[in-house]
Amino acid sequence: MFRTIKIRLQRTADLVQTVAVFNQACQRVLDWGYENKHYNKTQLHRATYKGIREEFPSLPSALVQTARDQASDMLKRDRFEHMIRKKPFSSIRYDKRTLSVFLESGYCTISTVFGRMRYQFILADCYRQYQSWKVQNAQLVLGRDACFLNVQVEGEAPPFNGGDKRLGIDLGINNIAVCSDNSFFNSKHLKNVKGRYQHLKAELQSKGTRSARRKLKNISGRERRFVRDLNHCVANEIVNKPFDVFVFEDLTSIRGPKRNKAFNRKLGNWSFRQLRQFVEYKAEALGKKVLVIDPYYTSQTCSKCGHVSSNNRKGRRFTCVQCGFTLDADLNASRNIASFSTRVGGRLHVSEPNVADDEAEGRKAVEAESSCKPTNLFVGG
Ligand SMILES: [Zn+2]
Repeated sequence: MFRTIKIRLQRTADLVQTVAVFNQACQRVLDWGYENKHYNKTQLHRATYKGIREEFPSLPSALVQTARDQASDMLKRDRFEHMIRKKPFSSIRYDKRTLSVFLESGYCTISTVFGRMRYQFILADCYRQYQSWKVQNAQLVLGRDACFLNVQVEGEAPPFNGGDKRLGIDLGINNIAVCSDNSFFNSKHLKNVKGRYQHLKAELQSKGTRSARRKLKNISGRERRFVRDLNHCVANEIVNKPFDVFVFEDLTSIRGPKRNKAFNRKLGNWSFRQLRQFVEYKAEALGKKVLVIDPYYTSQTCSKCGHVSSNNRKGRRFTCVQCGFTLDADLNASRNIASFSTRVGGRLHVSEPNVADDEAEGRKAVEAESSCKPTNLFVGG
């Protein structure tokens, strides 16, 4: 399994310069690829390598190759729909040829336009658990007053514990998540904060000035981090419950008529996907697993007698027209999710690439969390 750890480096001129030159080289490949409609690495290499080496003699050969790889992936993803402009100081990619990280000793060596350089760093305490993991690759990101290496490390996942205690999890509007063990993660706080951000963003958007745009970007970043932290907290609480298998409904159902459109717009499907993704990674690390089932009338079925009827649900309350059983509608759905999964089997979910990070490239990765305070945001409902 993979984790991404964040290392802070000093923002030195040689790193800044390397990023700038790398991105220019990458742009050359992007331009050629777009014009000639190719994203095949060998073809890109043949067409651009020599020219780039001549134009940017200071850029080490291995970095020319990673620039080409990065361009190839960007072209592939875009399918030649746009002419891609890589920003002059956007993040660049490193692999084993161009980077060595010594987590325990606290230093790394990096290929730059001035040759291989050595940088010291202090590994944050929360990453110490990954010290012995294998470093795979990294992204170098320029910050305003520091550089960051997002290093992807690989470690072995513990084997599945073999247990079959199942927890059904219903994701939704009124509650971020409701679990079949009667626990609720309500979205009141989330909605409040989201609402505040929406308001701020609308104000800034209407201004349209340069500084407003900059502020808008900051706020969007803060909002994203807020949701991510919240998802980390919810996921932590869920995976640490005494269950072995966590069952979700297929997420496409969240867009269905069962859910409210305005809410989808506001919260976006991605935050649910992120929550499930976090549960997956955390469960994997604990020797537990995640299953996904198709939504089989989970909200219309009585979790007690199994009667299915669209009249069973009245708003947030579930009342069975056959046996009279009544329960919170989301809780009823979560119980169905758990029990249906034993009947239909469910499928082991295959993780998607990181949804939280626009620049993240391909690999399965999740940012190892920095801090997660125990939270009492989620009062029972
Ligand atoms: Zn019933």
